[in-house]
Amino acid sequence: MKHILLIILMLVALVALGCGDSGGSDSTESDADSDGDGDSDSDGDSDSDGDSDSDGDSDSDGDSDSDGDSDTDGDSDSDGDSDSDGDSDSDGDSDSDGDSDTDGDSDSDGDSDSDGDSDSDGDGVVYDCGIPDIGDGGKSKPSGSAGGLKILNWAGFKGAVSYTFDDNNSSQLNNWDTLMGLDVNFTFYLQTNKDISNAKWKQAQDKGHEIGNHTGSHDCGSIAQGNQALEAIYGKIYTLAAPNGDTAGCRNGAQQVHFIDRNVAGGIVKPGQGDAFDLSSTIAANGNSFNQHAESARDQGGWGIYCIHGFEGGNDGAYQPISLDAFTNGVKAQKGHGDMWIDSVVNIGAYWMGQKSATATGTSLTWNLPNNFPEGKCLRITVDGGDVYQDNQKVAWNEHGYYEVSLDKGEVTVK
Ligand SMILES: [Zn+2]
Repeated sequence: MKHILLIILMLVALVALGCGDSGGSDSTESDADSDGDGDSDSDGDSDSDGDSDSDGDSDSDGDSDSDGDSDTDGDSDSDGDSDSDGDSDSDGDSDSDGDSDTDGDSDSDGDSDSDGDSDSDGDGVVYDCGIPDIGDGGKSKPSGSAGGLKILNWAGFKGAVSYTFDDNNSSQLNNWDTLMGLDVNFTFYLQTNKDISNAKWKQAQDKGHEIGNHTGSHDCGSIAQGNQALEAIYGKIYTLAAPNGDTAGCRNGAQQVHFIDRNVAGGIVKPGQGDAFDLSSTIAANGNSFNQHAESARDQGGWGIYCIHGFEGGNDGAYQPISLDAFTNGVKAQKGHGDMWIDSVVNIGAYWMGQKSATATGTSLTWNLPNNFPEGKCLRITVDGGDVYQDNQKVAWNEHGYYEVSLDKGEVTVK
């Protein structure tokens, strides 16, 4: 009997120790397993499945992933690409269909391609654009006459929404698991006279969230200083949120190092319109009104950007804090529509700016991007028919209903 009591006491003690573990997303983890899922996790990401993950990405399926990409399906992926289907892909390309591809090319059809060419059946190159797919796929390549090139607004979504957080307030970090659990990319605008080295932000960046500049000391005179401090930790910083919405005062400084500066003046951003250094956002309304800004964006075919300072119940002096429930309900409502692009300011902003800076004729597309524009961004286009070429290579048709062309490559032609 004494032994049984002793065992029960030991179990209780173990459970109590377990509850003290904040769990999941730590960057200093290098032991066998202290994130509670039974695997061996030794990188800097957030790994919550049951596999062995040792790279620097975000892996949340049930496979074994050991490269440097983002793998979210259920296969075994060990190269350096972005694989999100259901196959086994172990080369160095970008494979997004449902086959087994083991060479070194870019294969996006539905076959099994295992030679060493660029594509065994001639359907073209696939760029790693990082824009979410729309719908179920299965759409046929247009078969009309070559031409009719058009850029899809918001990558083909009905509208777009970005949720941005200012001032590194503690109520953001205190509700971190809830925020990250929503599984959409946010933008965190950090001011560098407060703590900017919390490991949570680096982990968020690794998962696809954006770290943006909110200046050194919350004034337009310290844009460069803030940018420098952030870049030392997070690499190139592309967008700024002008403190107090002072985009006029911040314009010159912002143009030196960024390609976007966000205001707080309200309004919806439209395709082909707006000023990148006075980009409209709205300070989040609370309660049932919170979701209205995103709904307006959806109704108008525009981009709604939220400025959020923090959540109710905190003691960090956040300006106009909102209820966590209103926020999470709003995000879930937008996800539920299925036709809204929910992403960071840099990702949606690069699309908006790419489209705005492009000139389309029926059979060609050219563009002139501003300074400090990110690499690896794309536009989605449709045509009446013909084949789409870029950089002397045929671009693959995407069965979700578009071609993705790379803004890093040259002119697009249809023939
Ligand atoms: Zn601020």
